[in-house]
Formats: sequence, C-alpha cells, structure tokens
Amino acid sequence: MRRPLVAGNWKLNGSRAANVSLLRSIRTGLPADWHCDVMVCPPFVYLADARAALDGSSILLGAQDTSAEDAGAYTGDVAARMLRDVGCTHVIVGHSERRHLRGESDTLVARKFRAVRSAGLQPILCVGETLEERQGSATEHVVARQLGAVLDDIAVEEVASSIIAYEPVWAIGTGHTATPEQAQDVHARIRAIVAARDARIAAELRILYGGSVKSSNAAGLFAMPDIDGGLVGGASLDAAEFVRICGAAARNA
Ligand code: PEP
Repeated sequence: MRRPLVAGNWKLNGSRAANVSLLRSIRTGLPADWHCDVMVCPPFVYLADARAALDGSSILLGAQDTSAEDAGAYTGDVAARMLRDVGCTHVIVGHSERRHLRGESDTLVARKFRAVRSAGLQPILCVGETLEERQGSATEHVVARQLGAVLDDIAVEEVASSIIAYEPVWAIGTGHTATPEQAQDVHARIRAIVAARDARIAAELRILYGGSVKSSNAAGLFAMPDIDGGLVGGASLDAAEFVRICGAAARNA
C-alpha cells in the first residue's frame, strides 16, 4: 500500500514572516491522525527557519533543487549534504523550470539524483512533456528518456525510496490541469518503465502528479490507481487550499 504524499513547491516565493504564518496555518489545519505524508519545499535560505517552525510536527521538509557537486569551487551552489544538515529529507530534481528555464540536461538531472541519494536523502524526480511534445505524440518518448537517464545511471534499488513526479510542462502554473485519465496513462507508463527493471520496486514507487492541482481537481486525480498524491505549486501558498488538497489525498489512502 503506497501512502499518499502531497508536497508543496513554494518556488521563488515567501519571506521569513510570511513563511512562519503559512506553516502555522498548515500545521493547525492538518488533523493529528493524518493518513497522508505532507511536505513543504521552501527556497534554500528559508529551510533552516522552516525546520524550526516545523519542530514537533510530522510535516516533511524538502528542497527545490541541489548542486550535483558535494564540495569545492562552485560559487552559489548548495550541496545535498548541506540540505540534509539543515533538516531536509527530500530534494526535487529535474523540475521543468530547471530543465527549461535553466537549461538543465537529462545528464545533469541524473547526476543531481545520484548526489541526493549519496547524501542519504530521497529525490523527487520530475519528468514531463511540453505542449508541443504532447501535440506531437511524443509524451511517452520524452518521459521514458528523462526517466531512462536516471535509471541508466544508478542501480534500480536506488529508486526504491525515491519519488517520481509527472508534471506536464503545459499544466504547470497555467491553470490547465491534465485530466485524471491523461495523467493516469502517463503514471501507468512510468510504473511500467520501472517495472521492466524491478516489478517490486515499481509497485511500491510513489508517483505524484503536478500541474495546476487545486482542491477542485485533486480528488479526481488522486482517485486514479497510479496517482499517489501531488506536487503542488501555486496552491501550496494558500494554507487552507493546501490543507484541502491534502485532505483529498488522505481520503484515497
Ligand atoms: C510545480 O511547481 O511543480 C507545480 C506543479 O506548480 P503549479 O501547481 O502551480 O502548477
């Protein structure tokens, strides 16, 4: 049985004061016996503050990205071991905004995935196609390529406690959500790709959907058999909305 997970990707948003208030509202909004893992992913500079604000709560802390390097002359980088040091358990790698706005290649994303595992943390690997790629019937090919770059770089056991997020680029921050059926098709394909290497690991792998998830569409998405929760951007900045999305995931537990 895969426990649902809802992770909030705050992107380049927040301030010390706003984060304290947002985290307090999320904490008070979630009932104690929550049947769903909940995570927040603030910007790097707020991670330590967020860890302190989450003290005593089971809300998980994730980072939005990492360096592929562990130490050395890489000005501006933040290493995965540093993220562990400030209390992160998870790190997003390969978000489409990193791939498309910052030019990150499949190879670099695979190196970041390995760096996160080496630091003893769990990667959340994002994959997903652009609108042009979907319209050109290339969705499966793109997702298989992005996933394959990681699977070819590591032992399949390294994927066991990792998380995959299917995030169609055309749905991120646009208000255009994939239908539950569209998302389910790709999630099933992702699980099949991992199953070709190890069926047990594939069966236990959590695959999140991301792309304009809101409380109004979350239940339909999370009801699909291969959708194990969501990676939520914009809606994670509104505590009440985020808690409602977590509620939709918990009801499918
Ligand atoms: C994201 O940032 O990963 C995301 C899915 O954003 P949004 O929910 O705003 O589409």
